[in-house]
Amino acid sequence: MSSNPFSLLANLFYPRLCGGCRRNLYTGENYICTHCLMELPFTRYHRMADNPLERMFRGRIPVEGVTSLLFFNRGGIARKLLHRVKYYGDTHTALAMGRLLGETLLDSHFAGCGAVVPVPLHPARQRVRGFNQSSLIAQGVHEETGIPFHDDWLQRVEATETQTRKTREARWENVATAFAAGASFAECSGPILLIDDVLTTGATLEACARVVLAAGTGVMLATLACSNR
Ligand SMILES: [Zn+2]
Repeated sequence: MSSNPFSLLANLFYPRLCGGCRRNLYTGENYICTHCLMELPFTRYHRMADNPLERMFRGRIPVEGVTSLLFFNRGGIARKLLHRVKYYGDTHTALAMGRLLGETLLDSHFAGCGAVVPVPLHPARQRVRGFNQSSLIAQGVHEETGIPFHDDWLQRVEATETQTRKTREARWENVATAFAAGASFAECSGPILLIDDVLTTGATLEACARVVLAAGTGVMLATLACSNR
């Protein structure tokens, strides 16, 4: 956090807690305490050519890179952080994790992307939830990398059911036609960096990437977490 008088004042009334362990944060710690930060299970896939996530998409879509910041282990910190974002509406943690992802991507070929675009929620679901966590993560990536952020370049045109309990095939049928381009992508100077919170089967990201590729623009994928494989 900063020396911004407003945030200092806010801290007097709302003690800042770590998004991972809920311990009080010290000055200089932002959203995640130093201990939890050290414990985060980083994949380091952004600097690994032919990483397991890229192999997962091979033969499905021609992506120029796939990475994920953290492994999503049962009971692990990444899971706790994302749980806080999704079910408690902890938008600050989403933004902070996005910034961490952005900072990580700076020294890799992901930094050459022309736009950061989040996987959209259907407007009806976003109204209920109040925010799109992927959009907050993408905003954080933009803030650290300076890559232009475009929240409206992809649109969710079908409200799909939750993916959680579906098989890979069912997930694909569920989302295959759910997205549409909200822009021509013509003003994009490099591949589009698609951002989502979690990568599991990749069905949602694949459906989004197909829309981008159909518009003639390259695509790279980054998420906060991926299942450990
Ligand atoms: Zn902590």
